[in-house]
Amino acid sequence: MKDKIYDVAIIGAGIVGSMCAFHLSKYKLNIAVLEAGIDVASGTTRANSAIIHAGYDANEGSLKAKLNVKGSLMVEPIAKQLGVHYKRCGSLVIGFNEQDLDHLNRLLVRGKKNGVLGLEIIDEKRLHQMEPNVSKEAKYALYAPTAGIVCPYDLAYATCENACTNGADFFFEYKVDKIEKVGLSFSLYAKEKCVRAKYVINCAGLYADEIAGLISEKLPFEIIPRRGEYMLLDKCEKDTVSHTIFVTPSEKGKGILVSPTVDGNIIVGPNANIVESKADTGVTAEGLQEISQSAVTMVPNINLESVITTFAGVRSTPTSGDFYIKPSTKHPKFIHSAGIESPGLASSPAIALYILKLLEKAGLKLKERSDYITTRTKNGNCKLFCDMTEEERKRAIEKNPANAKIVCRCEMVTEGDIINAIHRPISAHTVDMVKRRTRAGMGRCQGGYCRARVAEIIARELNISVDEVKKFSSNSHILCGRTK
Ligand SMILES: Cc1cc2nc3c(=O)[nH]c(=O)nc-3n(C[C@H](O)[C@H](O)[C@H](O)COP(=O)(O)OP(=O)(O)OC[C@H]3O[C@@H](n4cnc5c(N)ncnc54)[C@H](O)[C@@H]3O)c2cc1C
Repeated sequence: MKDKIYDVAIIGAGIVGSMCAFHLSKYKLNIAVLEAGIDVASGTTRANSAIIHAGYDANEGSLKAKLNVKGSLMVEPIAKQLGVHYKRCGSLVIGFNEQDLDHLNRLLVRGKKNGVLGLEIIDEKRLHQMEPNVSKEAKYALYAPTAGIVCPYDLAYATCENACTNGADFFFEYKVDKIEKVGLSFSLYAKEKCVRAKYVINCAGLYADEIAGLISEKLPFEIIPRRGEYMLLDKCEKDTVSHTIFVTPSEKGKGILVSPTVDGNIIVGPNANIVESKADTGVTAEGLQEISQSAVTMVPNINLESVITTFAGVRSTPTSGDFYIKPSTKHPKFIHSAGIESPGLASSPAIALYILKLLEKAGLKLKERSDYITTRTKNGNCKLFCDMTEEERKRAIEKNPANAKIVCRCEMVTEGDIINAIHRPISAHTVDMVKRRTRAGMGRCQGGYCRARVAEIIARELNISVDEVKKFSSNSHILCGRTK
């Protein structure tokens, strides 16, 4: 490893780093992805609203607006290519009074200037036809038919698996803590380990300012951690709404939403509160109260008692208000992607292309390869059993009887799905890695039934003892020894 010099090193495997790896792996390049966490999507990409925003929210002329509108249209074809669940469900920002209508009209004008297609203000009759459960007090809505939903971490897994299949090297639990410029390359250290690369992309999310600090650079703004809390409702509530429903926004953000998810749940949240620590993903009683109240205002008969889990994500809000995607002022071959708050997920494919242009400008040669593999793995896109047709299921069971053994009853995940996740290009070797790739443990019982079985399958497939299997990080033990 010491002597190898990569063409490009990407720091951080959130959605921005993942999309960079995905786009770069189409070219004849040696790519390294350095991730502090144990898995892809260990940061903000793991916990957000999962909305592919249409692009009416960001100020006209901002980088956010440009990349949101472009990126949101790119997500669907990428999802299709890599077998990621995506749905263009459309969004509705609802208004209750004349003041809200003024705000919606401003968003309409801004959206049109940003280039968002199909935006319109609809009246209460149409709104209630489209969404019968929305409050009867709602009189207007801004309808954005191009908005969609996706599974954010699956989009990151898929793009990274594709990059890995195409030869990108991934280094996990690799927290870059020192950077040196040696000759024409950068040495990126994590404790005693070192990866060298000619070009570097800083996609470290909330910590992008700290990475800049490692090359003695201060970004021209501050990153403020702003937490958003969520509740996830059981699938039996899936008919509550079919579009993403927002209230008219305030200066704090796009406001709390009620939305379907691609997996058939209903998501409620987020609020927006500044927290002291960038790692503070705690959920508070007050926060849940705040989002519950807002949800009931929008959808009065929403069944909040059917909540199956709560969680929180932290935005990397830049004091400058816009995405910052620029070469370092000291090193032109070192590109920063910082302040990527919402709509960072929706914008991510376009952010990556923007970064590729900056790399090219800095001298990187992008020569297309002829052997590019378009799918996640050499064998295709790893369809889960629950997504298969009856015919596909029959064939899968004939091929491997493990596909007939249901391990997670809530989400209908088979032993075959789990084995597959463990042996995919980026191996799922903890219980949570398996959970996020297969949904085993994501249903109503939240893993109460299947977690032990998943741990046993991981142990068997990786030929380790079951007490070596971890939940989410290298020191999150599940078992500490035998009782008998
Ligand atoms: C509450 C909330 C709701 C949101 N809703 C939406 C939405 O609906 N739609 C939308 O478009 N956007 C949304 N966003 C924004 C979106 O989630 C982010 O813009 C996006 O996930 C940022 O991706 P990233 O790759 O820049 O950062 P991250 O996902 O945080 O990735 C950065 C990665 O870098 C790694 N890292 C950090 N330091 C180091 C280091 N020293 N060495 C190596 N690796 C390191 C981290 O472990 C992490 O995996 C929301 C965000 C929040 C918090």
